[in-house]
Amino acid sequence: MKVLVMNCGSSSLKYQLLDMTTENLLAKGLVERIGIAGSFLTHEPTGKDKVRIETEMPTHTVAIKLVLDALINAEHGVIGDMKEIDAVGHRVVHGGETFTDSAIVTEEIMKAIVDCKELAPLHNPANIMGIEACQELMPDTPQVAVFDTAFHQTMPEASYIYGIPYEYYEKYKIRRYGFHGTSHKYVAQRAAVMLGKDPSEVKVITCHLGNGASIAAVKNGKVVDTSMGFTPLEGLVMGTRCGSIDSAILPFLMEKEGLSGKEIDNILNKKSGMLGISGISSDMRDIGQAMSDGNHKAQIALEVYAHYVRKYIGSYAAVMNGVDAIVFTAGIGENAIDLRAMICEGLQFLGTELDPVKNDVRGKEVNMAKDGSKVAILLIPTNEELVIARDTKVLCG
Ligand code: AMP
Repeated sequence: MKVLVMNCGSSSLKYQLLDMTTENLLAKGLVERIGIAGSFLTHEPTGKDKVRIETEMPTHTVAIKLVLDALINAEHGVIGDMKEIDAVGHRVVHGGETFTDSAIVTEEIMKAIVDCKELAPLHNPANIMGIEACQELMPDTPQVAVFDTAFHQTMPEASYIYGIPYEYYEKYKIRRYGFHGTSHKYVAQRAAVMLGKDPSEVKVITCHLGNGASIAAVKNGKVVDTSMGFTPLEGLVMGTRCGSIDSAILPFLMEKEGLSGKEIDNILNKKSGMLGISGISSDMRDIGQAMSDGNHKAQIALEVYAHYVRKYIGSYAAVMNGVDAIVFTAGIGENAIDLRAMICEGLQFLGTELDPVKNDVRGKEVNMAKDGSKVAILLIPTNEELVIARDTKVLCG
């Protein structure tokens, strides 16, 4: 069975074609600047040379048509005919309270996804465009929606209800949802495998540290708390997002600086976090370099970052009454060796001992804890596409 995985943003889309009999990757690629002058496709067929195709792609439909053409192309293609694609799995950011699992897209399901648009106005519309484009181009191929929020839907009310009037939850569904669900799900399952246990027997804290970052407490295979909230702004300090701050800062700043709601939202989402503190960059590599060059604000930014992660790990150990493994994943979690060491410094009270030699590693599955450490410290490269493809196979296989 061959599954095409689609992750559509407003002006870009990432794809992977997987053979789900073996879980082998057949091809992957990226389209950038959809709807903007200068659009191009980078297509990477497994075992063949990468190609770059430059052509105007005014819509997602045109872009996806180009992807399909690349997949069946005589030279750089990997399949003979579009009909070989048995199903398409789409990443959908927000599934609200409606979706606790992935779903085959029907008219009714599509309506429910459209209803979630208000909760993720920046993401869901692009995901919907991707599904509609695939439906148009491949009308006989089943489409599956896989939600970033679904894995977190097991959270108890005590974790997802905010301390604001309950009527806002009832009226507007304001509550904690959590994001990066496919990543947390993948690494939590792999963690259980690495510990040699069933997911139902372990308490895992999964740290997805990328440009966007979130942490989840996964107890016996179910999320019991997570750091992102109603939107992906809450929780950790991220590349450009502020994470959790005192909400009273908003009206204070709005008054002092004469800012509108939209303007303050833009500052908190796009100009804060590591970029805001350091004044240098949102990219962890740039911050690390600046710190080595003696830049004080870069040093502070890194310390704040590590402090937040450490604080969440400690609180999630309390939420679960213990922890068996702490997992690091995503761009920063998989690669930032010094930062991992900073985060783990001070967590020894939990029974975690990071081994500095084993920590000197990037992007491969390994337990970085010292022999005899009560709590494992796992590096697990995430694979969100594989989760999407597996769910698609389960529903359509
Ligand atoms: P992601 O959103 O998962 O692609 O992660 C992006 C983040 O990973 C950026 O902040 C990068 O700076 C960071 N990153 C990638 N490679 C490295 C590396 N070798 N060392 C430190 N940070 C890295």
